[in-house]
Amino acid sequence: MLRRTKILATLGPATDKPGVLEGLFHAGVDVVRMNFSHGSAQDHLDRAAAVRALSKKTGRRVGILADLQGPKIRIARFTDTKVFLNEGQDFALDINFDPLAGDNTQVGITYEPLALEVKPGSRLLLDDGRIVLDVVNVENMRVNCKVVVGGDLSNNKGINLLGGGLSAAALTDKDKEDIKTIGIMQCDYVAVSFPRCAEDLNEARRLLVAEGCYAGIVSKVERAEAIVPDVMDEIILASDAVMVARGDLGVEIGDANLPAVQKQLIKRTRELNRVAITATQMMESMIENPIPTRAEVFDVANAVYDGTDAIMLSAETASGKHPIRAVEAMHRVCIEAEKQRSVRESDHRINIQFERDDEAIAMSAMYMANHTKIKGIVSLTESGSTALWMSRISSAIPIFAMSSHETTLGKVTLYRGVFPVYFKIEPNQDHAEVNRNVVTELRKWNKATDGDKYIITKGDLNGVQGGTNGLKVIVVGQGLTP
Ligand code: PGA
Ligand code: MN
Repeated sequence: MLRRTKILATLGPATDKPGVLEGLFHAGVDVVRMNFSHGSAQDHLDRAAAVRALSKKTGRRVGILADLQGPKIRIARFTDTKVFLNEGQDFALDINFDPLAGDNTQVGITYEPLALEVKPGSRLLLDDGRIVLDVVNVENMRVNCKVVVGGDLSNNKGINLLGGGLSAAALTDKDKEDIKTIGIMQCDYVAVSFPRCAEDLNEARRLLVAEGCYAGIVSKVERAEAIVPDVMDEIILASDAVMVARGDLGVEIGDANLPAVQKQLIKRTRELNRVAITATQMMESMIENPIPTRAEVFDVANAVYDGTDAIMLSAETASGKHPIRAVEAMHRVCIEAEKQRSVRESDHRINIQFERDDEAIAMSAMYMANHTKIKGIVSLTESGSTALWMSRISSAIPIFAMSSHETTLGKVTLYRGVFPVYFKIEPNQDHAEVNRNVVTELRKWNKATDGDKYIITKGDLNGVQGGTNGLKVIVVGQGLTP
């Protein structure tokens, strides 16, 4: 059975080891993430080249997502790498303090305006919430705090403000530099960290286009401000895909609010015809252990029930001990979760008037596929939009996006239930011949056999985007099909 939910795996030192990347391909990874918070530009370029070489070797198109670091606010460094903070003690964050000389009373920070954006009573969460500080007062540019939850604190750990509200722009100087590397690397998606509004995403898109990169934009929803209803819609509409970035988001809004927000974000993203990614700590214990916890199995399955397009692995694959097993575990959990009846039924856009014929055809194909015996759907597509619309409908029927455009094949790697197939239509081919070639591909990719029924959607074969105006039913081995 084909798995519909896509697996996105972060690359890192653990996947640089011989044979591991190829192991991820065999385990079924769909998209890889280059995390620009770690590693050098050359590391990312080398990894992208390795992914492309393996896509060629294995015949499986694996997408590439470049993830910009964004304005992650961090403490500076300690003289002895780490300190221990006791509950109730004083501790200060100071922009003017020597960034290499922190001790257990004070440490430098990397974010200039912190002192201007907090006030007495503000709560700061360090190291993903493991350390909690309450602001007592601000003296000049020094933020004096009381330790509420103590423990070990080491160099360069992140800082979040509970409730959000730090003003940092989404694109830093480092991100702008990294966008140049991404222009050289080329990729299918670029993720923007901590966007506050549509303009943060539009700016990223403009800078990427200036480097000749037409990647889809992924907005990482990880600020409290980003989930206010109007802002949420604005951000979703300015994006091609939306990531529920549970790590930072959970710190800003409180972990208990995450499950509801995840459901709401995925639902809204799909309603607006965008693609959803669920990220962070999905198989966290597999950084060390060869099997996931029961809770992690449930988390992955629940994300599938919520309708996510893709689920993401972070440190599990980038630096964990069992990167291949983590992908295998996700794969088997998805396959079983996708058998649930609820994930195969849909009332998506049931009351909507469609504005475009091609969208209406995509919806019609899904209606037919879900209500008759169809083995699969083929979308002959230039831009991939038809396949995107189709995949917003919950279904158990695979959608094959057949295209000769590498950019389109790369984008659909993230769409739930959509499988990229390279397919070229020659200028003078007629529909019958195209259908025959489609069947040849289906025999290869979907084990199609005589008698299987498929839907093909296509345009007038003139290579024009948005030209889908036909829906055809074919039976393998009958009529003109081979
Ligand atoms: P990160 O983003 O892994 O880049 O921090 C994801 C998250 O915050 O969940
Ligand atoms: Mn984050």
